[in-house]
Amino acid sequence: MCMYCKEKKTVPSVTSHVVDYHGRLIIVKNVPCEECVRCGEKYYSKTVARKLEEIVDSAKKVIQEISVMEYSEVA
Ligand SMILES: [Zn+2]
Repeated sequence: MCMYCKEKKTVPSVTSHVVDYHGRLIIVKNVPCEECVRCGEKYYSKTVARKLEEIVDSAKKVIQEISVMEYSEVA
């Protein structure tokens, strides 16, 4: 259920996850998510959220002005 508008229906979608890390941008593309059909709010599953953290952490180690990462289950 959407925590913003209480809509029950969400649909599978993909999004770009953007992290502002000390003024530098880490962008993870093609991240699977669920999207609220009413307000468009996007949600990650626990598995995806954990994997996203790993990807962002690995990007922080090689941080550049802007890091663009592709979402991957095996990263
Ligand atoms: Zn919603």
